[in-house]
Amino acid sequence: MREITHYIGGAAFAGASGRYGDVFDPNTGDVQARVQLATASEVDRAVQSALRAQADWAAVNPQRRARVMFEFKRLVEARMDELAERLSSEHGKVIADSRGDIQRGLEVIEFACGAPHVLKGEYTEGAGPGIDVYSMRQPLGVCAGITPFNFPAMIPMWMFGVAIAVGNTFVLKPSEKDPSVPVRLAELMMEAGAPEGVLNVIHGDKAAVDAILDHPDIKAVSFVGSSDIAHYVYSRGTAAGKRVQAMGGAKNHGIILPDADLEQATKDIIGAAYGSAGERCMALPVVVPVGRKTADEVRERVLAELETLKVGISTDPAAQYGPVVSRAHRDKIAGYIQTGVDEGAELVVDGRGFQLQGYEKGFFIGPSLFDGVTTAMTTYREEIFGPVLQIVRAETFEEALELPSAHQYGNGVAIFTRNGRAAREFASRVQVGMVGINVPIPVPVAYHTFGGWKRSAFGDANQHGMEGVRFYTKVKTVTARWPDGDAHDSAFVIPTMK
Ligand code: NAD
Repeated sequence: MREITHYIGGAAFAGASGRYGDVFDPNTGDVQARVQLATASEVDRAVQSALRAQADWAAVNPQRRARVMFEFKRLVEARMDELAERLSSEHGKVIADSRGDIQRGLEVIEFACGAPHVLKGEYTEGAGPGIDVYSMRQPLGVCAGITPFNFPAMIPMWMFGVAIAVGNTFVLKPSEKDPSVPVRLAELMMEAGAPEGVLNVIHGDKAAVDAILDHPDIKAVSFVGSSDIAHYVYSRGTAAGKRVQAMGGAKNHGIILPDADLEQATKDIIGAAYGSAGERCMALPVVVPVGRKTADEVRERVLAELETLKVGISTDPAAQYGPVVSRAHRDKIAGYIQTGVDEGAELVVDGRGFQLQGYEKGFFIGPSLFDGVTTAMTTYREEIFGPVLQIVRAETFEEALELPSAHQYGNGVAIFTRNGRAAREFASRVQVGMVGINVPIPVPVAYHTFGGWKRSAFGDANQHGMEGVRFYTKVKTVTARWPDGDAHDSAFVIPTMK
């Protein structure tokens, strides 16, 4: 059986923990490989490799570091087909979606190619007599990233792209469910010219994560995953004195006002709710039509769309979504559907019985639709992370605005309307980090920043864009005096600009 090893110091590194995780092909339900799970000492080995490389890498001028990023982007693009196929075979998302996963990561690499520009500091000439003040951004040292299964290319690139371009070295702990593509990315980073140890990959579970959080030589940790674990990582990492950003789960709402283009809004909602089998933190699993007429029409339109929605294996070009990542996750989604029924929501479409001929052991689940969902229901309060759309009916704009604002998660939200004033007011007042106006999945472009509010993100800094640069650097400010003449005096009071 194929064995997936760690990648340390520019080479494959075979761990000796004797512990492994199964890597499935969700299409067939078969185990296709096993991945080594690291011990604390193996994590330490990766950190030491990053530590050895760090000072020299930080001393490389930013333009040369950027050239490595340019070359990395070229190499990834050249291997797009191979990477997308591998990604789909471990994750289950359709090939076109895997290409999107890689492409969105490359857009952060493009942003990272601008490191020389974003690292420029500030300068004040003549802040006092003969005094100039300037500031610079310096790398932190060794940084680590811990990533979820659902974007095994994009999210690692969000992190190491920016961290490495600004002069840090990096230890990546990808999801143990789909670990192959992150290793390929590290190999390509070396091929692009990054010195050994600049990007290391260590596989593992809680033991590896804890070793990262406690390691004294890791200065910053970026985490993306579910909220309870994000909170744990944030608490333990900051208690150990590290800078931590920890993104968590989501429950994004799509508000449809009565004046919206209902045909387009419904198509947008369908794609955002069921694409990637709902396994996206920016999926739209809750639709909030305002007014009964809007709700009834949206429901009819969704039902019509579901009749033609095609679920298939991830290499089927006609499939709109593929299997979910694991049997356990499929069972969890099915469990939520049952809870929804028990709680009294109306199950309009039940995807639990779905089977794909020839792939009966694959982790497939058909699309489900609930109507009559209320805020008291567990299935509304919690993240399902599957192909399940819930209709929550609202009577007024205020009621619709309150729903995402009051929810425990605050990652993304979308409003569909032709009324610019209503959209503007909604964007201003809603208590959510990323807002779409007639845009169902408002993932910001790479040079802006990505991050939710409330239990969708712990810590102050968002991913990528200038927030990413600030997260992975510290500011040093220099005050320099080159006085005229040779007066030699002492100052016993604090100097002021008076
Ligand atoms: P997860 O929380 O199970 O795993 C994330 C990472 O944490 C993995 O690397 C995993 O190995 C590690 N981990 C798992 N259990 C742990 C434990 N007990 N202690 C320490 N570390 C542990 O998440 P997942 O299932 O891989 O991904 C799906 C989740 O990620 C969803 O909740 C989704 O909303 C969220 N997500 C959020 C964003 C965002 O930017 N807000 C983006 C993508 C995914």
